[in-house]
Amino acid sequence: MSNEKSSVTVVIPVYNERDNIPELLERTTRACRALARPWELILVDDGSRDGSTEMLAQAAHEHPGEIKVLLLNRNYGQHNAILCGFGAAQGDILITLDADLQNPPEEIGALVAKIDEGFDVVGSIRQDRQDALFRKVFSGIINMMVRKSTGVKLRDYGCMLRAYRRRVVDAMLSCRERHTFIPVLANLFAKRVTEIPVGHAERARGTSKYSVLNLINLQFDLLTCMTTAPLRMLSWIGAGISALSIGFGALLLVLRVVYGSEWAENGVFTLFAVAFFFIGAQFVALGLMGEYIGRIHADVRERPRYIVDRIVGETLGERQMIQVGLAHTPRVG
Ligand code: UDP
Ligand code: MG
Repeated sequence: MSNEKSSVTVVIPVYNERDNIPELLERTTRACRALARPWELILVDDGSRDGSTEMLAQAAHEHPGEIKVLLLNRNYGQHNAILCGFGAAQGDILITLDADLQNPPEEIGALVAKIDEGFDVVGSIRQDRQDALFRKVFSGIINMMVRKSTGVKLRDYGCMLRAYRRRVVDAMLSCRERHTFIPVLANLFAKRVTEIPVGHAERARGTSKYSVLNLINLQFDLLTCMTTAPLRMLSWIGAGISALSIGFGALLLVLRVVYGSEWAENGVFTLFAVAFFFIGAQFVALGLMGEYIGRIHADVRERPRYIVDRIVGETLGERQMIQVGLAHTPRVG
């Protein structure tokens, strides 16, 4: 359980948000000051080309110790920018937020309060969401899929106004995957997760940085970061096709005996049954390969296998502490 004074880091990815930056900084710093505890604001410029970079740099100069700015050398995407910010963060509680003011910074206090209650991750549900209809429908379907496959019953995975406890973020940072979807990844390492309702505004200024193609890519990131079920599905589809073709073959045999060879087009139908059987078998083989690929995928991500919260009773030796992940390996050289 965190104590009263746990510090807060707010991480905001920024990509071509020139017109939103002044209001964003104003409202976010005000919300942070109202927390009455140590805080820092980390802005990660994701390769902006509209002058946002210079504005952020200036803000960092004007507010040393409060505003920190990381400039990426090109555009790496929202989630990578956030991970970069996490890497630089010092706070015990980490908050993410969009730069376009769709998420009100005034809600930061409510998120922090929930973490203080003992939750590891606090999400938010956009009330009266102000996005295009197709985005809302699409996001509804995705949220349902995520709920089904992760078993974590959150309502709104798309909303980036979220709070994470430090150890969840550390676990996320130790994952070696390139493509990821932070809210889903966080659930892997969180014991107590909750959501609070927050307001949602239309994008204050500028346009969405996600084209339809980008959105589709993002859904693939979400899917692959969450499950290898589609690979496994190949085997099931293949087994289904093969089983059906055997039934089809048996049916043909019976009909052939009853109606004679004329009816069966001299074996053309039988060929179909044979062909379906092998098509099915190919799917099974693909699915089998998928199982191996899924395992390779899991291995290369190097996600932590577990996180130890604390040790009760006798403390461990230095080496043992490192082995269970409670201490960092000393750097060599
Ligand atoms: N963003 C980013 N890099 C990108 C795309 C977006 O850092 O490649 C930031 C963007 O500046 C904003 C947040 O991610 O702070 C969410 O983007 P946007 O509002 O365009 O997404 P939408 O609300 O349309 O889902
Ligand atoms: Mg937005």
